[in-house]
Amino acid sequence: MANKKQGPRQPLSQRRPKVVAVKKAAVARAKPLKQPARKPAAKPAPKLGAKRSLPPANPTLLYDRLLALYPDAHCELDFRTPFELLVATILSAQCTDKRVNMVTPVLFARYSTVEALAAARQEDVEEIIKSTGFFRNKAKSIIGMANAVVERHAGEVPSTLAELVTLPGVGRKTANVILGNAFNINEGVVVDTHVGRLATRLGLTRQTDPVKVEQEMMGLFPRDRWTMLAHLLIFHGRRVCDAKVPRCGECTLADVCPSRRV
Ligand code: SF4
Repeated sequence: MANKKQGPRQPLSQRRPKVVAVKKAAVARAKPLKQPARKPAAKPAPKLGAKRSLPPANPTLLYDRLLALYPDAHCELDFRTPFELLVATILSAQCTDKRVNMVTPVLFARYSTVEALAAARQEDVEEIIKSTGFFRNKAKSIIGMANAVVERHAGEVPSTLAELVTLPGVGRKTANVILGNAFNINEGVVVDTHVGRLATRLGLTRQTDPVKVEQEMMGLFPRDRWTMLAHLLIFHGRRVCDAKVPRCGECTLADVCPSRRV
């Protein structure tokens, strides 16, 4: 409804421009503010790892040297069957192999078959594996994995990557461990924390995603070396190329390593 106190409406041509329009015009007339000089973009912090000015280590040479140093490099988890290795590998997440090797004899003495573990009570398994850390999730994974092996694979651990990665608690890394060590199948390269760190320090990759690191390593080394390659790098990472304090002074790769600190 029209306001009766207002006078007669002005014709459109005489109406005052709206305040917003006036302000916009004022802003347009105003001198542009002097922009502060832009700082040049800061250089990204150098990544830890290989010094890019130095060439990466020669893959064949470093494999041969590590093999000469660790001719018996092997999986350091104790196992008698593919199923035991699968359980041990799941338990080894965020835990030392030594600790897992203390726990698995007790676990397998209590649950000696896949079927027995599949029927186990979660609380009982948790109690046995407690010292490996993340024990609730791990107990759930190994019981779930055992059930899947019983139901989908007649109690036999499958020997393909595609089937293994569908089991609870099993990713590509664990599947590669099982295939390489329980079935002698070189399907990929196990990329754990040691392999990832050494691959970077040796200049073999600039990737940080384990799957991409694995792809690059598979391109650098012949297929029949993939399983042993991971053992060699893990052995060297545990014994010499420590994450915090690498012992470059006693390293067999020091003369070819772009990250050497000697
Ligand atoms: S210990 Fe040093 S020299 Fe040896 S691989 Fe590690 S970073 Fe390179």
